[in-house]
Amino acid sequence: MPELPEVETVRRGLEPAMVGKRIAVADVRRPNLRWPFPEGMADRLTGARIERLRRRSKYILADLDTGETLLIHLGMSGRMLIAPPRNNGAKEAARDMLGDFHHLHPAPEKHDHVVLDMADGTRITFNDARRFGAMDLYATEIGETHKLLALLGPEPLGNSFDESYFKAALKGKNTPIKSALLDQRIVSGLGNIYVCEALWRTGISPLRKAGDLSGKRIASLVPAIRQVLSEAIESGGSSLKDYRQTDGELGYFQHSFAVYGREGAPCKTPNCAGDIKRVVQSGRSSFYCNTCQR
Ligand code: ZN
Repeated sequence: MPELPEVETVRRGLEPAMVGKRIAVADVRRPNLRWPFPEGMADRLTGARIERLRRRSKYILADLDTGETLLIHLGMSGRMLIAPPRNNGAKEAARDMLGDFHHLHPAPEKHDHVVLDMADGTRITFNDARRFGAMDLYATEIGETHKLLALLGPEPLGNSFDESYFKAALKGKNTPIKSALLDQRIVSGLGNIYVCEALWRTGISPLRKAGDLSGKRIASLVPAIRQVLSEAIESGGSSLKDYRQTDGELGYFQHSFAVYGREGAPCKTPNCAGDIKRVVQSGRSSFYCNTCQR
């Protein structure tokens, strides 16, 4: 499942293709993904200009000049793919003016559920084989009161996620630190991969009770989380199953994993003779070294 770095990579890829550009034709090719699409979505998108492309947690938010925001969630297997027009000749441009985009791109494929033909001929396709993704349209002015955004905790790369916030948020928590970090109300955008990696970097066991961690150890998690996310964004995210960047390329942070998916392999901590263990916590695998993570 795409986590914050993958979603941010997709957002950055989409930015030059979408911001300041007008959607000439929106083609919504099925009634729903995880949830039904909002009513009249194709009509509400057609003709709209995208003013800003933001990210909140694992959501991409496109602010439109119509006063609405398009919310995009990639779910498990969703991809946003950008295809430049096949041909930019003068004759083609003349046809583009008439809103005929079909000759510029191959026909949509089976899992291409939403197709946005931008006025410059670029095609942006939301492809989602497993259909856990989602799109919604809402009035931009309601801001973070949208039901999917209202309960989200601070952004881990933002200024409000700091030592004092994090200490207060974990105080008295009886859950393992692993579960607390996956709780989107405490900090938003983290998933299994980056939580495992951040815990390894700080030498904290995923089994350790959140409320029992010393202030110093909690404080050490803040830069570790920021660092692992930033490095992953630099690498274009991690491609495990379905995730692709907007140009169809894989991310490559999976080659830098210290613990995730490395059960039985030697620990990468200098001078640690341990190997990586896997335990299941709340139905999710935690990978860690029980020699240097305490
Ligand atoms: Zn170790």
